[in-house]
Amino acid sequence: MTHTTPKHGGGWPPSGMDPEVIRVLRPSDGSLVGELAVTPSHEVPRRVERARSVQAGWASLLPKDRERRLRALLEAIDERTPEIEDTIVAETGKPRAEATVEIVSVVDHIRFLLKNATGFFRPRRIPTGWMAWKQAFVQRDPLGVVGVISPWNYPFMLSMTPTCTALFGGNGVVLKPSEFTPYSGLLVEDIARDAGLPEGLVQVVIGGGETGEALVRAGVDKIFFTGGSRTGRAVLAAAADSLTPSVLELGGKDAAIVLEDADLARASRGIVWGAFLNAGQSCIAVERVYVVERVYDAFLREVLAHIRKLKAGSSAGVEIGPMTTPAQLAWVEQQLAEAVEAGATVVTGGHRTDPASNVLEPTVLTGLDPTSSILREESFGPVLPVVRVKDCEEAIHLANETPYGLSASVWTKDRKRGLALARRIRAGAVCVNDALAHFGIAGLPFGGVGESGFGRSHGIEGLEEVTRSRSLLVDRMGIEREPWWFPYNRGTERLLRGALLFRLRGGLKGAFAAIALMVKGGRR
Ligand code: NDP
Repeated sequence: MTHTTPKHGGGWPPSGMDPEVIRVLRPSDGSLVGELAVTPSHEVPRRVERARSVQAGWASLLPKDRERRLRALLEAIDERTPEIEDTIVAETGKPRAEATVEIVSVVDHIRFLLKNATGFFRPRRIPTGWMAWKQAFVQRDPLGVVGVISPWNYPFMLSMTPTCTALFGGNGVVLKPSEFTPYSGLLVEDIARDAGLPEGLVQVVIGGGETGEALVRAGVDKIFFTGGSRTGRAVLAAAADSLTPSVLELGGKDAAIVLEDADLARASRGIVWGAFLNAGQSCIAVERVYVVERVYDAFLREVLAHIRKLKAGSSAGVEIGPMTTPAQLAWVEQQLAEAVEAGATVVTGGHRTDPASNVLEPTVLTGLDPTSSILREESFGPVLPVVRVKDCEEAIHLANETPYGLSASVWTKDRKRGLALARRIRAGAVCVNDALAHFGIAGLPFGGVGESGFGRSHGIEGLEEVTRSRSLLVDRMGIEREPWWFPYNRGTERLLRGALLFRLRGGLKGAFAAIALMVKGGRR
């Protein structure tokens, strides 16, 4: 697959003008995937305006009509599945099975939205308390245009999922995919077109950080950002200038806690997968393991046995593919070198499979100093530090030590104890006897705390992020004057004091007190 002619996003650049171009390379062998013209920053607000003009019609549809049209996304994905997989594999270097997982997750998410979006938009009656003669409702309204900025590690899933949520929420979308994986982002625009959605409702802008910043400043109604914590800060600073609300899905340093009563066969298998899936480049990868000392040696033995069976390389049929960007590889190698210098032991791995490749062997570290950067800062690579702890209290304490809080896992045969410990971990999600699987459940809200960001994707909470509430009140009595309107008189005072007593004391007691007070003439 080699593309050289940029054909998306409104035909930029005009003929005769040389565009700035980004070159997309395959992490597996450095060959060219294609070249794409960068969308100039001044063009980005125009794209947002175009999306806004189309979105007005989209928002005016009944939710069930939008839903009917969005169902066609499934067919469009079905048609393009091999192309989507090829594109993800080409741009990221990940194994094909992991590319398929991205599509499964997107489809499941669309199914969730098809089932829930219409009900979500149904106005809800709200009790009116002591104003019993009124009716009140709350309804959800679309925001307008959502700017989606996505990273390269799950380039299709993390572009398509927030886009779908925004569309079901009645919004238009302008998406800025990572410059390392723009073709996976462009597929989102293609799929929307194939599904017959209004032209311009979903648009992709191409470029790096500058284009992302232009999108944040382009007058969108919300930014949905997925990426690193440092970039997240820059996004929030730019969004502050225009008071643009933002969801930030940022990095993590997820801990796994293995207790003395864990099923070690399952725990070791699950943790190895959770750490090395996508060559460790998952925001919710297991990035550190705390193992209670009684089972530490046995756990480590099982982990190493599983790792020995993994194939790492750049060709098809491996479990561990190349790292997607050279900068990410360099960072992980630096972190490893620092850890080793500080006294850590590399129990397995630690090198590239071949010095010329981007493939880092699955690596396990032990003997780490608790203050080591590799236990505190996100690695985002195939590295698993394993730490011996005295007991579960020490494990919980260490798990909560980093400024991140994306997700975590607890491994124990005692499910009740596992859940109790899960509630003590500072994280947006915690699995018991599993890792990462919570992301695959479309109804579960997903997001972090602390430096892992704020706001939620997935679930009903995801729909709430891309809509705003509108409160509606209807007077049902049609009387000429509400008792508390001007002019104020003894009757006004009596009524308000009665209302106060009624609400203070509550129920029948409150009602009697209010009536008694009014009969007495308003004095307590
Ligand atoms: P980055 O933060 O580098 O980039 C994310 C996106 O932001 C990219 O599209 C990038 O463009 C763009 N960008 C860069 N600078 C700016 C800017 N100043 N203003 C606006 N946009 C900008 O993250 P990575 O792509 O390297 O992804 C890895 C990170 O993402 C990890 O930290 C990982 O944990 C996190 N992540 C979080 C997830 C979550 O749901 N919590 C899920 C997946 C990943 P470009 O790439 O073209 O430079």
